[in-house]
Amino acid sequence: MSKIPPLDLTRQYATIEAEISQAVTAVLASGQYINGPVVQHFAQQFGDYIGTTDCVVCNSGTDALYLALRALQIGPGDEVITSPFTFIGTAEAISAVGATPVFVDVDLDGLNLDPAQIEATITKRTKAIMPVHLFGRPVDMDALMAVAQAYQIPVIEDCAQAVGGQWGPQRVGGIGRVGCFSFFPTKNLGACGDGGALTTNDPALAETAQMLAAHGSRSRYRHEAIGINSRLDAVQAAILQVKLQYLDRWNQQRQVVAERYTQLLGLLPGIQVPGAPSMGKSVWHQYTVLLKPSEAGSYRDRVRQLMQDQGVATMVYYPIPLHRQPVYQSLGYGAGTFPRAEQAAGRVLALPMFPELTAEQQAQVVYVLKDAIAAA
Ligand SMILES: *Cc1c(COP(=O)(O)O)cnc(C)c1O
Repeated sequence: MSKIPPLDLTRQYATIEAEISQAVTAVLASGQYINGPVVQHFAQQFGDYIGTTDCVVCNSGTDALYLALRALQIGPGDEVITSPFTFIGTAEAISAVGATPVFVDVDLDGLNLDPAQIEATITKRTKAIMPVHLFGRPVDMDALMAVAQAYQIPVIEDCAQAVGGQWGPQRVGGIGRVGCFSFFPTKNLGACGDGGALTTNDPALAETAQMLAAHGSRSRYRHEAIGINSRLDAVQAAILQVKLQYLDRWNQQRQVVAERYTQLLGLLPGIQVPGAPSMGKSVWHQYTVLLKPSEAGSYRDRVRQLMQDQGVATMVYYPIPLHRQPVYQSLGYGAGTFPRAEQAAGRVLALPMFPELTAEQQAQVVYVLKDAIAAA
């Protein structure tokens, strides 16, 4: 049996190699490597795709989150409610502007922050709610927006893993006040380097974010704020333009892969498969199952090793919830504060997931997983 990686970017590249080469060569020949028409055009197309009036492109998803927070004038003394079960970049951006992340536990069904628990954590200092559409699955945005609107708190959606996903008929990133996206190569819409974007229907907010991303400048050499340097370069924009045309098709293929996994795994005892969202559409950035609980994830890690020995590579997103990270010890959340996030951290196992994964490979993954569960 051949080895199966958690994801394989080379297969996708092979299908669009000629188009990418052409697009990159055109940029190289143009001499315009920073800003310019290709970058502008991609920003326009991406905003149109998400369904917002405005889009600001930047250097990374982390920068997009940082710029959104800054544009909303969130800083020291402010609190931002988010999930403890996400990539560090989410909370890092909150800390980077000087604000404090305030965590709310997840639900074990979707592994997303539980909107029902938000209200109890709102204080006078709460200046934003930052839901994360983790693994491509949308947060219940009806419930979340209802709380946000009742308290008039802006919502910044972390859509880094969910480009193209929907809650109801709306694409994520166009539901809250701002949507933040990452074009890191492994994301569903990935560049060949770093990249990010923020989307909004608030033109003034977009202009502020753009100003902050350009050294606090709206016109050359006039600086009104301490900003940063965060740009999407033209080569990446050209690559993303090509890939954006295929995004829906790739997301559809992920859906097929996910359904096949669920069908193959559905009857396997001791495994909880990820459910589809109650509304809208997941874009299956990951297909993450929950194994049975064990001390510090020891059972999960044995299963993982046994699978690795059989040539199937799996991943663990994320082994330590943010409130238990060394960097956040100062926030004072002890063990057991967010029991579901902690349980998830010890139980999650992400199976190989990418659009080009074949039915044969999936059958092999499931076969090897069954064996590992029997032996672990
Ligand atoms: C990838 C990711 C980010 C950060 O994006 P970068 O482009 O790597 O900076 C933020 N939040 C989540 C949930 C992510 O998955």
